Amino acid sequence: MQYRKIEKNGDQLSVLGYGAMRLPTKNGRTDEKRAIEQIRYAIDHGVNYLDTAIMYMNEPLVGRALRDGYREKVKLATKLPPWTVNKEEDLRSTFKVQLENFKISYIDYYMLHGLNRANWNKMLEFNALEFLDEIKKQEKILNAGFSFHGDIDTFKEIIDAYDWDFCMIQYNFLDEKNQAGTEGLEYAASKDIPVIVMEPFRGGNLARNVPEEIQAIWDEAEVKRSPAEWSLRWVLNHPEVTCVLSGMNEEEHIKENIRIADEALPNSLTEDELKLIERVADKYRELMETGCTGCRYCMPCPKGVDIAKCFEVYDSAKLFNTGNIQSKVMYAAGLGVMNDGKPGFASKCTKCGKCEKHCPQELPIMDLLDDVSNEMEGPLTKIIPPIFKAFLSIQSYRNNRKAKNLE
Ligand code: SF4
Ligand code: SF4
Repeated sequence: MQYRKIEKNGDQLSVLGYGAMRLPTKNGRTDEKRAIEQIRYAIDHGVNYLDTAIMYMNEPLVGRALRDGYREKVKLATKLPPWTVNKEEDLRSTFKVQLENFKISYIDYYMLHGLNRANWNKMLEFNALEFLDEIKKQEKILNAGFSFHGDIDTFKEIIDAYDWDFCMIQYNFLDEKNQAGTEGLEYAASKDIPVIVMEPFRGGNLARNVPEEIQAIWDEAEVKRSPAEWSLRWVLNHPEVTCVLSGMNEEEHIKENIRIADEALPNSLTEDELKLIERVADKYRELMETGCTGCRYCMPCPKGVDIAKCFEVYDSAKLFNTGNIQSKVMYAAGLGVMNDGKPGFASKCTKCGKCEKHCPQELPIMDLLDDVSNEMEGPLTKIIPPIFKAFLSIQSYRNNRKAKNLE
């Protein structure tokens, strides 16, 4: 296992982190025995960064995996969900519940979860940065950071707003210009803020369901590697990346990822290999339905349509054959139903035409939004927001009740 050092705190993190978002299941429920065996196997083979979140509903399981001496072998990362915070006190009650979930006294890496413009504003409103200072001073967390799913301008603003110990971004060869992207990675690195990468396989899609045209390009490579290996090696090729998370739930994948993490040194891909990956990325873009590059020059839309996100989710759904219900849930979640109750759905477009004047790709944005709206929205889209809202209210209520019981 390779390790990359964080100069600020001296930690040597394994380049492969264990993402606990997609633990193995059996009969529709998490298979606890297998999940714990997998986590411990990874730790026994050098993984020392373990990432979860209260929203993944598995903090108690992860806490149990860390018994029997495993706690000391790993840096534990978890996240505070802005979606269930409705007042300042919710920050404290959520955190208290999280420590109790794991049955531990401190968390190594603690993040504000999934920041974007709406969540960031909410966190500022409820003084979350002062809260991070407070729990850090009490040594209940050792490092304060944030995970991110917004646009580059918001990312830079957040980076500059606090003395962050680390951050986490979505990054893979298809997302170079999406969300924080390469610009964000380099910006954080220029400020000496370590970057943890999530979604190296874009939700697993770059590793499975590989279209024939893409596989044909991979097959041209001199050294034969799986699409998953190319994707992981591409991320690890960046010296600015400290650790890359993989949501692992198959024993074979864990073994393969550990082997790759052993071998994939920074700047180790050859010019020809980088060109091959670029061709794969171009082919993926060509296969995308809309042709949107995610540059966001068309935004903001006066009606609140998140144009780039609409196209991103739509393209992924079409390209990777994501199932109908799953696509619609991803669409609703991606368009922000959890943020502020104002999702940027395509159907909000009133066809004012403002956006089309700014699109460097000269895309027929209004027509494309019609396609998105027709295919991704419907009765399900209408019932998803209240379901999300009810789920978050229950979560918030349960956290507060649990925290009170702990007093
Ligand atoms: S045409 Fe539609 S999406 Fe474009 S700016 Fe106007 S309302 Fe927004
Ligand atoms: S300007 Fe065009 S390419 Fe850029 S995000 Fe908007 S629709 Fe996509």
